[in-house]
Amino acid sequence: MRVRVDRDLCISAGNCVANAPTVFELDQEKIAVVLDPHARTVEEHVVWAAAKDCPTAAIILEDDEGNVLYP
Ligand code: SF4
Repeated sequence: MRVRVDRDLCISAGNCVANAPTVFELDQEKIAVVLDPHARTVEEHVVWAAAKDCPTAAIILEDDEGNVLYP
């Protein structure tokens, strides 16, 4: 599992930080950055919930080969 954020799509809603604070944080521009790109600090379902809760689908989930799983 790999986690990325499309910073051009992020609108600073902060849902991802609320859902998974060990995986995401907002930087000084209030745009999400990924702290834990392999989601090792949470169970996988937490990252999926965070991705689905992002209002602009800015969170991209990929498998270890780089195939896009979401969105
Ligand atoms: S939930 Fe989506 S839009 Fe909101 S801060 Fe996270 S990545 Fe950005």
